Amino acid sequence: MKDREGQFRVAIIGAGAGGLMAAIKLRGAGVEQVRVFEKENDLGGTWRDNTYPGLICDVPSHLYRYSFAPNPDWSRTFSPGSEIYDYVRKVAEDNDAEEMMTYGSEVTRLEYTSGHWRVTTTQGDQGKFDVVISAVGILQHPVYPDIEGLDSFGGACFHSARWNHDVSLDDKRIGIIGTGSTAVQIVGAVIDDVEKLTLFQRTPQWVLAAPNPFYTDEQKDRYREHPEDMQRDYDALAQTLNHGFAAAVVGKNDDALTAMQNGCQQNLDENVSDPELRAKLTPDYSAGCKRLIVSDLFYPAICKSNAEVVTESIQRIESGGVRSSDGRLHELDVLILATGFDPHRFLGSCEVLGLNGATLEQAWSQGNYAYKTICVPGFPNLFFLGGPNSPIGNFSYLLTAETQFAYVEKLIGLIRDGVLAEVNPKPGVTAEFNEMLKREMTGTIWMSGCQSWYFDRFGNVASWPWTFARFEEELSEPRLEDFHTG
Ligand code: NAP
Repeated sequence: MKDREGQFRVAIIGAGAGGLMAAIKLRGAGVEQVRVFEKENDLGGTWRDNTYPGLICDVPSHLYRYSFAPNPDWSRTFSPGSEIYDYVRKVAEDNDAEEMMTYGSEVTRLEYTSGHWRVTTTQGDQGKFDVVISAVGILQHPVYPDIEGLDSFGGACFHSARWNHDVSLDDKRIGIIGTGSTAVQIVGAVIDDVEKLTLFQRTPQWVLAAPNPFYTDEQKDRYREHPEDMQRDYDALAQTLNHGFAAAVVGKNDDALTAMQNGCQQNLDENVSDPELRAKLTPDYSAGCKRLIVSDLFYPAICKSNAEVVTESIQRIESGGVRSSDGRLHELDVLILATGFDPHRFLGSCEVLGLNGATLEQAWSQGNYAYKTICVPGFPNLFFLGGPNSPIGNFSYLLTAETQFAYVEKLIGLIRDGVLAEVNPKPGVTAEFNEMLKREMTGTIWMSGCQSWYFDRFGNVASWPWTFARFEEELSEPRLEDFHTG
């Protein structure tokens, strides 16, 4: 047993859904000092940042919850973003989490010396910590398109994740660049308010229809009075998602994949009667290759007479609007950039110095990798929630992060109890894991012939190539022989 002086200190980076969960659980487990450093002035992560009209989480509400805070009050099958934000905030309040937060404090440097991480933020030196957990999320760095003249646009222009609520869209001519989940939701929400909506589409997307009914008061009462019913429905949903869709995209359920493809095609055929528009909206790759979009509002909205899909590429942006490659100027009052996020940046501009001064930037110079999504050789006692190759896409991030945290918590317990001085995955084992991962990736739908944000600039896919059951199995118990233990 190793003697540790003073209090055990854990720093968490990011007060999003993952960081908040880790903080609450660590304090619950008796860790004396838990400090969450958050660059913004509020918690909630992606649910704080994204406030665009129509935002709905396409993971069913009852799957999108912490295991320790089941919620009988979800209003509908798929929750609006604001409701998830309120839920996360309530969990924080119910657990007195605010006292663990340091806001407006972006972590800029982590340095591992003498068995500790020294943490520096935009507010200066924060001292030494035994363990650091990165919970920065993958949807935190908006991508701004590199299009000539973007700055010269005369009207209002903003990214979907930085929505400008001072700008009214009523009776305006609006342009939206992008056709991902975000753009699709915005189109469905604003079409009846605007004079004209022009959607600039580079690549069409497959869209699955899913009704979004409200829960009745009787249903909510039943969940409140019989939590076991809520748990049973949770289990059924998890089973459907993990064994159906999630297995399909990694090549482990061909029937589900076919059903998904047929469902998308049927949605398109039934809801878009104009053959010219239907052709424009038909992708030339398989459903699920890009992250699947779920919406039953998009097709009816884009068929309306005040909507137009422009498939000519954007030549430049001018003061009066967007000029497409056919020479046409699409005159606009408001331009919305629904151009997505960079999910590969993780700690972004933070300098991370591990053993012998090696930087994480160097370690990841040919692409991000980790030992089982959790930790990186040479960077002891630094753990990731939502790290490289975590299950992403249409999974519940809360379920993913809790599964990862349960594993990290076991490792932290060993350090805290003095059984291990440090947890540092062996390079050989980590390389083997990642080679296996890359081989497996070739059998996934993501590599079947489309471009998507899953790819980094080296052609690596950012997601988990096995089933969710395999993920749970890999992270069930730490294999101590896979680590150098200080
Ligand atoms: P996204 O899926 O990455 O889509 C970005 C869109 O912008 C794509 O259509 C892309 O075209 C287009 N684009 C990017 N740069 C462009 C350029 N220079 N010129 C023209 N078009 C350009 O982003 P997102 O829609 O914000 O969604 C990101 C992720 O957020 C989702 O996949 C999901 O994980 C999450 N999200 C979830 C929900 C939900 O319901 N749970 C809702 C919204 C977002 P290409 O396809 O040609 O690259």
